[in-house]
Amino acid sequence: MSQDVVTMDKIVSLCKRRGFIFPSSEIYGGLGSSYDYGHYGVLLKSNVKAQWWRSMLQERDDIVALDSAIIQHPRTWEASGHLAGFTDPMVDCRTCKLRFRADRLVDAQCGRKPSKHPGETSDCDLTEARDFNLMFETTVGPIKDEGATVYLRPETAQGIFLNFKHYLQFSRKKPPFGIAQIGKSFRNEITPGNFIFRTREFEQMEMEFFVPPEDADRWFEHWVSERMSWYTRLGIRADHLRLRPHEQDELSHYSSATSDVEYLFPIDWQELEGVANRGDFDLRAHAEHSGQKLEYVDTASGARYVPHVIEPAAGADRATLAFLVDAYDEDEIGGEGRTVLRLHPQLAPVKVAILPLVKKDGQPELATEIYRDLRERVQAEYDEGGAIGRRYRRQDEIGTPWGVTIDHQSLEDRTVTLRDRDSLAQERIAIAELPNEIERRLRAPWKSPKA
Ligand code: ATP
Repeated sequence: MSQDVVTMDKIVSLCKRRGFIFPSSEIYGGLGSSYDYGHYGVLLKSNVKAQWWRSMLQERDDIVALDSAIIQHPRTWEASGHLAGFTDPMVDCRTCKLRFRADRLVDAQCGRKPSKHPGETSDCDLTEARDFNLMFETTVGPIKDEGATVYLRPETAQGIFLNFKHYLQFSRKKPPFGIAQIGKSFRNEITPGNFIFRTREFEQMEMEFFVPPEDADRWFEHWVSERMSWYTRLGIRADHLRLRPHEQDELSHYSSATSDVEYLFPIDWQELEGVANRGDFDLRAHAEHSGQKLEYVDTASGARYVPHVIEPAAGADRATLAFLVDAYDEDEIGGEGRTVLRLHPQLAPVKVAILPLVKKDGQPELATEIYRDLRERVQAEYDEGGAIGRRYRRQDEIGTPWGVTIDHQSLEDRTVTLRDRDSLAQERIAIAELPNEIERRLRAPWKSPKA
């Protein structure tokens, strides 16, 4: 277990207090394990997704983007195997009337006090396990009985396979190449929980990389190491990240290898992302069910084959939670406790806060001028209300890496102090140099001070 000061309760409370994430529908008493992202949460998760896009699209030239529909033809799920096999084993307790995932009883809490794991006391009366399909079903068309049954997608990946043919035609790509997508997925989880770690509605970041069959093993290794390093480049401490190759009996029937990227959450090591070698299972299954040819034909040699697929599948919400947990810290300034999110500057919701020392003597006017200039370049925030120490505390709690303070000297010589969230160093700097300095710092390599 982590020696950190961080706990899940502290993260949940900070997220609510500072407007990152709220329990959904709270005025109606809440809806279990459903959350709304507030202002800073939206900014943080957008930055996580932007960094993912950046690593997939901007920094490479062999991946293209897609945004496919959430509701797809129902035969999609027949072909993919989800209709028949996307199930979790479920048990009910006849005593406490709660429902649990049969394969995760050790993670679950029984409904009675003192709380135990289901099945641990002599009063527990668990039913036999039965399979429960996790897909949400709905009806297309105005009249329920006459409409067609469709499903909310439980993963974004299938939308990629459905569009494979379009990409061969328009994208001028040939294997090895990938199609990347970020979007909402839905799973009727039996036991959601641990804040945004497991919810019924969540965002996935998935990429399907199509390769010549003989190169699949090599590309699998490439993507495993690429995805591990994405997290560490964004500040996740290396000793809180590990790779867990699946055992033979854990592998999906179509996968020859899968490795989970795991993070040491306060609830123990848990999956952040899965990287799988899916072989040619998906393209073959959709070709069979649709009657379409889903293969690559090399126009020069005439060779044709069904590409194999390497899939890194990550969760945007789960990654956001990992970044929050990894960043959470407490320290003391001048004998006073401080909570601080030591987020990678690229992920921080706000990059710079502009704070006039006092709300008079021309300071707010100059500060506003600086703010207008900085917000052209980065997400900035202006705050003139309350004691300066309290304003800094607030910015520290939302993870703002830099603070600019405007004081009486600023009006005389057009310099300000630039404060660093982590080192607390304060440097005097010319206002004219500020935008470039902030951008320089934003681009610099960064390492967590907690590491
Ligand atoms: P788990 O074993 O935790 O249920 P999984 O192996 O079923 O996850 P995948 O189908 O591989 O997950 O999905 C890829 C990623 O999507 C996961 O690594 C996770 O980050 C995210 N994810 C999956 N289910 C959920 C969920 N219910 N809530 C939040 N994120 C999820």
